[in-house]
Amino acid sequence: MIHAKAYAAPAAAQPLGPFELDRRAVGPHDVLIDIAFCGVCHTDIHQVRDEWGGAVFPMVPGHEIVGRVAEVGAEVKGFKPGDLAGIGCMVDSCRVCASCRRDLEQFCEKGAAFTYNSTEMDRSTRTYGGYASRIVVAEAFALHISPRLDLAAAAPLLCAGITTYSPLRHWNTKPGDKVGVVGLGGLGHMAVKLASAMGAEVTMLSTSAAKEADARRLGAAGFGLTSDPATFKRLAGQFDLIIDTISAPHDYNQYLGMVRLEGAMVLLGVPPAPTPIAATSLIFGRKTLSGSLIGGIKETQEMLDFCAEHNVVSDIELIPFEKINEAYGRMLKGDVRYRFVLDTKTL
Ligand SMILES: [Zn+2]
Ligand SMILES: [Zn+2]
Repeated sequence: MIHAKAYAAPAAAQPLGPFELDRRAVGPHDVLIDIAFCGVCHTDIHQVRDEWGGAVFPMVPGHEIVGRVAEVGAEVKGFKPGDLAGIGCMVDSCRVCASCRRDLEQFCEKGAAFTYNSTEMDRSTRTYGGYASRIVVAEAFALHISPRLDLAAAAPLLCAGITTYSPLRHWNTKPGDKVGVVGLGGLGHMAVKLASAMGAEVTMLSTSAAKEADARRLGAAGFGLTSDPATFKRLAGQFDLIIDTISAPHDYNQYLGMVRLEGAMVLLGVPPAPTPIAATSLIFGRKTLSGSLIGGIKETQEMLDFCAEHNVVSDIELIPFEKINEAYGRMLKGDVRYRFVLDTKTL
């Protein structure tokens, strides 16, 4: 067994504190990673508060993990000690179902093994995430991270980055496309950066006029104030793709009105209650309303390589572990630009 220091929530909605855990010994196909940084995703808060049900405690959150390989198993081909490595939201999947064979492990028919608050594929060994000093993972679920990227700022690419990259790629975003991004938070700021790096003309759609300057700094060419009904008229039929990152209640029909003929709107946020959709919002203009969930391992590597090539990382605030509970409080108020990242040196 491999001992690790960590931070855990002892029970639902309780403050996180120091915790000790054992990782499995390094198997022939495993890599041991000394974690350097871990991003703090809004999912961590949902899980710690058991807002989606079924949470198991103590819980060590964290699925935006970057660090350095400390040891590799005998059969490992792609990593060696000293390499940079990352782990995102998944640590394994069945690897044989139709989804896994299409490199869409996030939709594994058996259910992927998620990085924390989940189990390994044996369905009994619990998984603990990246708010920790070390982690052991199958090579097939470890990602390569370019030394050209700022390592701490690259951590959020493992969830926020791939969650926004995947729909941009799936809907074939190309230079000159008009992309609307709804909401400027952890996901939204990555969507602006990535769509801009792909050559799209990005418009930030936000209820807050105070977000305009930041949106433009991040790469947005336009801004639409969604608390003003005139914005929906001005931008009617404009966008090839709208990436909607908002999890607060809002009217999808209004936003679909800004999608062009045969364009698409993709939901990444999960509002607390279902939203009514008028069929006419889709019928007029043959529009698509879809959703998207992270990305497969192959696409996550492609995203990391794209970010290295275009020097895209997250805007972060680096914090020590003792500040994690305070950071959760600030995230709930939207007071972070745009991702907290935990520094493992402070563990
Ligand atoms: Zn996440
Ligand atoms: Zn599968």
